[in-house]
Amino acid sequence: MKIIDTHCHLDDEKFDEDLPSVLQKAKEAGIVYILTAATEPQFFQKVVNIAQNYEQVYFFIGVHPHDAKKAEEKTFLEAEKLLHHPKCIGIGEVGLDYHYNLSSPDIQKKVLKRLADIAYNYKKPLSVHVRESEDDIIKILGRKDYKIILHSYNGSKYLLDWAKERDCYFSISGMITFKNAKDLRESVTKIPMDKLFIETDAPYLAPVPMRGKRNEPAFTRYTLKALSDILNTDEENLSQTIYNNTVSLFGLP
Ligand SMILES: [Zn+2]
Repeated sequence: MKIIDTHCHLDDEKFDEDLPSVLQKAKEAGIVYILTAATEPQFFQKVVNIAQNYEQVYFFIGVHPHDAKKAEEKTFLEAEKLLHHPKCIGIGEVGLDYHYNLSSPDIQKKVLKRLADIAYNYKKPLSVHVRESEDDIIKILGRKDYKIILHSYNGSKYLLDWAKERDCYFSISGMITFKNAKDLRESVTKIPMDKLFIETDAPYLAPVPMRGKRNEPAFTRYTLKALSDILNTDEENLSQTIYNNTVSLFGLP
């Protein structure tokens, strides 16, 4: 089985001590590619180094909405430059998170617009975080022809309708295994098969039966299994479909 974790954070300090063994375990679990997403400007180089050190790791360059206040003018120049790196597959993590507002909504919007413009200019996909911010996401990303991946899609029906019309991709995380994720399990059956991805968002959101532990790319398997049960499809076929979707969007070798 060929599985791809389309969104995680290997530069997180929770992996500092044992990254080589985390990646080895992922390999043994059939994870052939791992797409890691930058979140903070100060760690851009760390993300790049990880992708350079491990053949199966590719990266998104971006600024998480929580960290939007840390973006400076040079951050955007650096992101633009890194888009030319052979292992950079897009802009991410970007988005809007009005649940915590760790950066003000105005700053979040400004940073999202800047990074989305870069993605647009270079025709690169965007890995987008949406939390309690659907209207502004639709306003900001609705007009241009970006390739959008809704990272850790939460099951929102409002977003589903827009995103389907807009040809977005939906990346399903371990949340789908959570007891309270009824909306997500329902919405997922309405996503076109050629728009499906899976991810861990590691070190966060570990799927059942690992819930509460540090998440890692190997655990993508649990999400794949849960998704195949919900869609009533064969795990092997589903993983092949998702593999094809991912490789073709990002142009992976
Ligand atoms: Zn993330």
